[in-house]
Amino acid sequence: MTASLFINGKWTEGTGTRRGKLLNPSTGAEIGEVAFAEKADLNAALTAAEAGFRVWSQTSAYERSRILRKAADLARQHAGAIAEAITREQGKPLAEARMEAGSAGDHIDWYAEEARRTYGRVIPARTPSTQQMVLFEPVGPVAAFSPWNFPIGQLVRKIAGALAAGCSVIAKAPEETPTCAIKLVECFERAGVPAGVVNLVFGVPSEISEHLITSPIIRKVSFTGSVPVGRHLGALSAQHLKRTTMELGGHAPFIVCDDVDIAAIAGLGVALKFRNAGQVCASPTRFLVQDGIYDAFLDAFVSGAKNLKVGDGSAEGVQMGPVAHARRLDAMEGFVRDAVEKGAELKTGGSRIGNEGFFFEPTVLADVPLSARVMNEEPFGPIAVVNRFNDLEDAIAEANRLPYGLAAFAFSKRTDRTDRLMRGIETGMMSINHFGLAAPETPFGGIKDSGHGSEGGSEGIQAYLTTKFVSQLNA
Ligand code: NAD
Repeated sequence: MTASLFINGKWTEGTGTRRGKLLNPSTGAEIGEVAFAEKADLNAALTAAEAGFRVWSQTSAYERSRILRKAADLARQHAGAIAEAITREQGKPLAEARMEAGSAGDHIDWYAEEARRTYGRVIPARTPSTQQMVLFEPVGPVAAFSPWNFPIGQLVRKIAGALAAGCSVIAKAPEETPTCAIKLVECFERAGVPAGVVNLVFGVPSEISEHLITSPIIRKVSFTGSVPVGRHLGALSAQHLKRTTMELGGHAPFIVCDDVDIAAIAGLGVALKFRNAGQVCASPTRFLVQDGIYDAFLDAFVSGAKNLKVGDGSAEGVQMGPVAHARRLDAMEGFVRDAVEKGAELKTGGSRIGNEGFFFEPTVLADVPLSARVMNEEPFGPIAVVNRFNDLEDAIAEANRLPYGLAAFAFSKRTDRTDRLMRGIETGMMSINHFGLAAPETPFGGIKDSGHGSEGGSEGIQAYLTTKFVSQLNA
């Protein structure tokens, strides 16, 4: 099977012959290929997006909302097949894939509702014969780059946000996981989104981003991925004066005070850390635990990590699947070796499992020195670091030490402590005493090197709108 491109309302294998290989990360077996877009295909997508923008930006918000709601219904109807495709190509357990696919409809519905709420405002003028108005208008055709870790969750936010605002979009979805992206785009197609409004391409990421971002047709760039790539695309966008939304990496602190229910919070920490094999931008990485409960928490956390059932994501009861590709295995081995060499204690895991598929053990490192790479670079895999703190201010200083600022977690029964942590930690998102991030109606995004702009929430649609001020003297 060859996964295809969607350009100007038609599915095509493109004008070239280059193909990417699709692998099942649970077996390492080749399971298909994906057509790569060539320059001619990208030019066709640009022309289509330009024409699509003219049509869609003039379609009423009411009608756009109606079509989006239909797409949401279709996404729900096809969630089962979308989930299976996610697990087959990305590896996460089917239960997690079902949650991701199942929430696509909710994200589209949220943006369908937002489409009808792009209110402007009237500003009192200095003379009675003048009207001053602020209008929000769609920014133009969007280039959207989404990654493989949540191949539907990240893509759906970008497409639905752009469409709700009245923009057209060229989405470059991940080459590793194209099938679910294709199934999602089919939902927009069948819902009646006009030709050219949604376009889907795959290929060599650097070629596509260079071509699209430098095109005068593209007015907005939305990227989710690593900090170095975000920095590069941000610079390119700035050079061409394109607006950007950048959702980049994180290195979330998970601060546990000495007054919590140790078993419950350790259990939640294990579930959050090893979800999607740790390949989550908001994944907790630095577990900072207060002295009095450090040993008990570490024991509970390590035993939770040891008890996880790791295997093929499509098998019943599996809690953690493989990492998405072989290069993540090399990265994990490098992080562990470096940390142990620098004096960290390896409490469990640390190695690849078997030699079929891309499985890595749930790994816990304790008492890790700040000089270790894993304390500074996003592991983006199943590695947790558990270190201790005494004073809350020290935990805040450690949380803020890194240039990342995406997500943070804090646990205490004392509100004076959670309040201090909430105010003290530099982060785009914070979840206190539970996990509560990434709902369609709440903003998702980071600060500092983790990027800028939010997806979701009422902020999400703003990313795709420009501000027009009109001052009218009555005739
Ligand atoms: P990578 O840096 O090569 O790629 C990250 C993502 O960016 C991929 O989706 C890739 O297709 C895309 N990309 C790479 N170069 C690009 C370019 N020039 N133009 C457009 N897109 C480009 O790393 P990887 O091995 O695929 O993923 C691992 C790293 O990526 C991790 O360290 C993690 O920090 C980051 N990542 C972050 C997220 C997130 O949700 N923020 C998602 C996936 C990956």
